[in-house]
Amino acid sequence: MAGFNVRSVLVTGANRGIGLELVKQFLEKSNPPEWVFATCRDPAGERAQQLKNLVSRHPNLVIVALEATDPASIKAAAARVEEHLKSSGLNLLINNAGIARLSTLESETPEDMSLVYATNVTGPLLVSQVRAPTEGTLQLTPGSSPPSLSLPSLPSGSGVISCRAHSPSPCAAISARGVSRPQAALNMLTKCQSLGYGADGILSIAVHPGWVQTDMGSSATFTAPLTVDASVRGILNVLPTLSEKDNGAFVSWEGKVLSW
Ligand code: NDP
Repeated sequence: MAGFNVRSVLVTGANRGIGLELVKQFLEKSNPPEWVFATCRDPAGERAQQLKNLVSRHPNLVIVALEATDPASIKAAAARVEEHLKSSGLNLLINNAGIARLSTLESETPEDMSLVYATNVTGPLLVSQVRAPTEGTLQLTPGSSPPSLSLPSLPSGSGVISCRAHSPSPCAAISARGVSRPQAALNMLTKCQSLGYGADGILSIAVHPGWVQTDMGSSATFTAPLTVDASVRGILNVLPTLSEKDNGAFVSWEGKVLSW
């Protein structure tokens, strides 16, 4: 990580959990980015307090309002970021914001499925879309070596397509619950982005953070094995190892290529 230089990074869903820890660890680097954009839904509210505490110590940290399900909010966020970056472009986008809803095939509702899809799949699509400079919005720097990342929205490593060994739930439950967790859709989006943006030198990679001790990763029945600190340290160690050969891949916080 010491040799990993990124001039600007934007993390969505940065007021708690993995997003907040990513921001903290970027800021603590011996060579921190010139700009760290931490987005959250309500910068003025209590839920952004930890981010606000960091701003007083880190002038390179900018808190930006971004609601991942609202295209107007995403555009406004992009304009805000552009004010700081001018036309130099963003080096690293981490689409981290996400939600999970526990359900079974019987209890799943259309409302929940739509909300999870809107947040975890359409959100990253829209955030990544605002890169065209002609729209006066956010640009991901072509040719930058750090990739654009999407954290898949599937807590605990369970999969719609494959059942992983460290899943906290029995396989029977995974296939039912997986219906509302569009990990496969997000991985497919990442794959499509890798093909669509690859020609501009932008890498798109899905990263599995492990099963992490956050609000999302915790449940009354199971204890997540990974601390947020260890997961994010792992992700930040993996970042500098990624290159064109990983474009469109799904990798773990330990750097292993995962199937989906
Ligand atoms: P948390 O629930 O701790 O945090 C989620 C973050 O996303 C919060 O900052 C939340 O903001 C934000 N968010 C949720 N919905 C929206 C929205 N509509 N617009 C903007 N921001 C939103 O989750 P984690 O930190 O655990 O997870 C981070 C990412 O990692 C997620 O994408 C998750 O799917 C993925 N992941 C996590 C795993 C785990 O074990 N924890 C395992 C696999 C993947 P607010 O405070 O306003 O709600």
